Amino acid sequence: SAGVVIIGAGQAGGRAALTLREKGYAGPVTLIGDEPVPPYERPPLSKDMLIDPETRPTWLVPAEAWAAQDIRLMTGRAAMAVDRAARQVRLDDGSLLDYDRLIFATGSRPRRLPFRVSRLADLRTLGDVESLAARAVGARSVLVIGGGVIGLEVAATLVQKGLEVTVVEIGSRLLGRNFPAPVAAALARRHAAEGVTLLTGRRIRDLADTAAGIRAVLSDGQVITADFAVAGIGVVPETGLAQAAGLVVDDGIVVDQDMRTADPAVFAIGDVAAQPGPDGRSLRCETWQNANITAERAVAAILGSPLPAPETPWFWTDQYDLNVQLAGVTGPEADTARIVEQRAGAGRLFLVLDGDRLIGAAGINAGRDMAACRRLITAGIHLPPGMTASDSFDAKAARG
Ligand code: FAD
Repeated sequence: SAGVVIIGAGQAGGRAALTLREKGYAGPVTLIGDEPVPPYERPPLSKDMLIDPETRPTWLVPAEAWAAQDIRLMTGRAAMAVDRAARQVRLDDGSLLDYDRLIFATGSRPRRLPFRVSRLADLRTLGDVESLAARAVGARSVLVIGGGVIGLEVAATLVQKGLEVTVVEIGSRLLGRNFPAPVAAALARRHAAEGVTLLTGRRIRDLADTAAGIRAVLSDGQVITADFAVAGIGVVPETGLAQAAGLVVDDGIVVDQDMRTADPAVFAIGDVAAQPGPDGRSLRCETWQNANITAERAVAAILGSPLPAPETPWFWTDQYDLNVQLAGVTGPEADTARIVEQRAGAGRLFLVLDGDRLIGAAGINAGRDMAACRRLITAGIHLPPGMTASDSFDAKAARG
């Protein structure tokens, strides 16, 4: 058999290859990645690794594990075309790879601003973090474009390194896409207290290199100068190859519950996959957990084994000494729900309630309570009366 070919050696692709072996798949497994290194975790790029560039990458597994598990890892190699009729992938060196099953795990790339400037960085890869860390050395100021998770992690890191940091966010508040308002407000207060200048409700009208650095003109006419700029304005799914292969793309590559496209031999996982959402619309999810669970789902479908139990969507961000976790419904939909604040040891917990059911939760330094909340959201059970009042949440009782 020609086995399984996986395009994209990131979190999802790497996890899929490893899971195939864990689950006993004995056929050939080929993992193709255009980055020069084996699969690594991206979350540390904007956290530990940016604080201290000497930090070693967090590899998915040690380099020798790939060969030891008989996974053919091809790094520094891009897939250029897929011929679904012939079940073949063409690589950038012209070689052809046959497949029985193909998995797209091509991830996403940073969205770009429409300005051609040299002193503008973004952050997606190990290579990016190295060049960003190099720019920060000797710099005094930085303009961060985008007040989402990546932008704010970069802002927190660089202000702690002593840079003067300005964040410009187009939305009326920070983290508008997926954080409940009170959590975003708490983070905004902390950034301000650390000396970060936060400018919301403004877009970048113009951006230009100058002799000394970079100059931005905002939509309100304000001019900001800095030594360099970093953009964290979202990502675009890497769908070009799938689209050219005639697969249905609607934002991401459209798949079913099994992560299977309309072609039964072809799957898509991770950031690039558009899955059936709860309301019937397709949805993409750009998190570490989603990369792992979609990899496991695709592998179960390929092996014909039962799908893993559903998990409540969950992600985290680290800024300063704050670990913030979000689970379930926490985005703009949560703003119309009832949000109840709880104390959680030294931290804070916000419950998003639909009647007496927990549908979402957000915690600031409340990791243990968040673990309980994730279970409660997944179970969808009704909370005992009283537990939904302020400061009455009892993770232990909820577990019992
Ligand atoms: P990726 O990890 O992007 O991997 C896709 C790979 O495919 C890439 O290496 C790409 O180069 C390669 N590729 C694309 N096209 C081709 C081709 N034609 N041929 C060969 N290779 C190709 N999530 C969290 O939950 N918590 C966090 O704290 C968090 N922090 C993050 C911080 C940063 C700086 C970044 C960038 C992301 C962070 N994320 C976080 C998101 C998380 O890392 C992603 O959701 C996850 O990496 C998605 O995995 P993926 O495999 O789908 O895509």
